[in-house]
Amino acid sequence: MKRRDFVKLSSLGTTAIILDGCKTKDSSEKKQIVYPVAGENIKVISTWNSGIEANKVAFRILENNGLALDAIEKGLNITESDLENTSVGIGGLPDANGEVTLDACIMDHEFNCGSVSYLKNIENPISVARKVMEDTPHVMLSGKGAYDFAIQKKFKHKELLTESSKLKWEEWKQENKNVLPAINHENHDTIAMIALDGKGNLSTGCTTSGWAYKLAGRVGDSPIIGAGVYSDNEVGAACATGLGEAIIKICGSHAIVELMRNGSSPQEACRIAIERIKKSNKDLKDLQVGFIAMNKKGEIGSYSLYSGFNYAYQDVQESKLIDSKYDLEWEE
Ligand code: ASP
Repeated sequence: MKRRDFVKLSSLGTTAIILDGCKTKDSSEKKQIVYPVAGENIKVISTWNSGIEANKVAFRILENNGLALDAIEKGLNITESDLENTSVGIGGLPDANGEVTLDACIMDHEFNCGSVSYLKNIENPISVARKVMEDTPHVMLSGKGAYDFAIQKKFKHKELLTESSKLKWEEWKQENKNVLPAINHENHDTIAMIALDGKGNLSTGCTTSGWAYKLAGRVGDSPIIGAGVYSDNEVGAACATGLGEAIIKICGSHAIVELMRNGSSPQEACRIAIERIKKSNKDLKDLQVGFIAMNKKGEIGSYSLYSGFNYAYQDVQESKLIDSKYDLEWEE
């Protein structure tokens, strides 16, 4: 984007930003896009129904003129600290060896980003990811290094394996004889969130314990910038949940932002990304992926490969759960 003009459209009783210099998809002609300033337009979306509670906390920050980045961190902390949630933070289902390992990443409106992967014994990985972003010259810390950094930053060491998650893991070990389960509705659920604040800035983040009973050392899409989340404040943001191995292959979230840059609506961009998931995987059995996206105007969209994916929405008027559009019917 070469030039930005701020123009008051008084006849419409609203303020708009005109972004000049965008090229259309199939020609070099310049297209003029009129974006509303987001003061009234604050909103937050996040994956799955656990997003409802996380959105509430995030939205309170936005309502008080807070930053989208703070909304993302504090909102996601809610799900991370929820003992009942078996796929994020404390209480997450462990890997094949019975250890809970966490992945998370965060990205602000200026391309700053931070991430942690294979992090053990820290309840709020999204906050550690933010510290990596703000207090180090790096983007990603992993494993013991990420843990040591968190301790140095005064995060508390914590046992993350709850009694009920331990029981589930023991049952899995007995029943499945160490065969990895197919990823499905019961054993996956990243919470990924996008927020648009009163200054019109977008941020995004996600946090997960990943694929239940994964091989020790496995890292999914969720700490990978461009796969698990991506944000370009001039265009929009996107994030993902589902089988990380499939999401990484197509750089899912980055792909969606690029599709929006080239003129796709958030909805259409998510649908096209799911098309790519279909093309890049021979076997679609048990391979669920869901994307959510928001553009600079605050328009939202989502798409999943199979039915059953939903996401939580909150703006000044309402908080609701939206069933995602999808491609294939899930059969148990
Ligand atoms: N995307 C996460 C992973 O592959 C899991 C999920 O969203 O269900 O680790």
